[in-house]
Amino acid sequence: MTDSPIWRPFTQHALQARAIHVARGEGAWLECADGRRILDAISSWWVITHGHRHPKIVQAIKDQADRLDQVIFAGFTHEPAEALARRLVALTAPGLDHVFYSDSGSTSVEVAIKMALGYFRNRGVARNRIIALEHGYHGDTIGAMSTGARSVFNAAYEPLLFDVTRIPFPSVGREQATLDALEAACRSADAAALVVEPLVLGAGGMLVYGADTLREMRRICASHGVLFVADEVMTGFGRTGTLFACEQAGIVPDIACYAKGITGGSLPLAVTMCAEEIFQAHYSTDRSRTFFHSSSFTANPIACAAALANLEIWESEDVRGRIARLAAMQEERLLPFANDARFTNARRIGTIAALDLRVRDAGYLATIGPELYEFFISRGLLLRPLGNTIYILPPYCIEPSELDALYAAIDEAGD
Ligand code: PMP
Repeated sequence: MTDSPIWRPFTQHALQARAIHVARGEGAWLECADGRRILDAISSWWVITHGHRHPKIVQAIKDQADRLDQVIFAGFTHEPAEALARRLVALTAPGLDHVFYSDSGSTSVEVAIKMALGYFRNRGVARNRIIALEHGYHGDTIGAMSTGARSVFNAAYEPLLFDVTRIPFPSVGREQATLDALEAACRSADAAALVVEPLVLGAGGMLVYGADTLREMRRICASHGVLFVADEVMTGFGRTGTLFACEQAGIVPDIACYAKGITGGSLPLAVTMCAEEIFQAHYSTDRSRTFFHSSSFTANPIACAAALANLEIWESEDVRGRIARLAAMQEERLLPFANDARFTNARRIGTIAALDLRVRDAGYLATIGPELYEFFISRGLLLRPLGNTIYILPPYCIEPSELDALYAAIDEAGD
């Protein structure tokens, strides 16, 4: 009881009970109340893109807070939401024509699932089955959990989770098995939508797969009239090297989910974007066809202003150049680990690098993540391994010398 602080009554695991008090963020660094500095090598759960407290984002937040903090977004509208929607529609490939605002990655996926099911229902088509990839992660609400892989994190809610058709992850050499399984799943008369993390499965272990496979998956869905839902909550806003991961496959999803980096990671905001015909299926004076999802903070003006500032940074600063340089730096530093017997599966996509620590004792595997976390924290580095998978997913402003420190610590962790 004594080590159970009231501000965090539900701890994810024991180490959270010893949470570190952070007082300030600056660029790639966290400054702690006890004076320690910690390098944020996971972008604070994959959200921070340009570094903590980018001045343009901070200014936009302050300016908007001075004008309008929050307003009901039903029957009312405001400039930040309208301007952001226009910019997002212009930025994404033609075909994603409408923007629905919510406030977390999980809700953006929940909304996507509801849109997909509503699209069929409102047209009198009996399709309500979701297809998803093995090892996927889509969030912690019931629909998102159902769609994601079953794990210790959602086992308690198993009775409430709906059944989805799960297809194998397209690991190298096994892509055809995935495509065959998808083809079979799409043939089912009730197949409604494939929900997928494009090019890299994040929480499932930073598992990378090819753009060709993604393109084929999109083609198969289209050929069966099954909606293709891209969960770009993690991959969006530059992580995989392009603004959106789907760009690399040259595909346009029917529905796309963005969150995390949409505000540069500064404030919670999410969007679910969809094709015109999905919007039209819900846009009706007939209440039974209306899209009902009205969260209190939908399109919060300050969060929208932060997202607009993020997009402005993408336009006015050399973000793409920064991303390309970070990708090259990651590649270079990862290379020696590819031939290091202590590690396996060194992989990289865009700005993200990952590798697996070889562990002999399977029993150890369950606890190795938290142990590694403690090891890195003791060296002033925030890395949060997924089991024995160590990944580096830093803000784009990280310096070469800071990356060196990270890889030196990973090398040390291998011993
Ligand atoms: N989808 C993906 C691919 C994610 O990585 C995450 C978060 N890790 C989510 C959805 C859920 O986002 P949030 O934590 O903001 O609800």
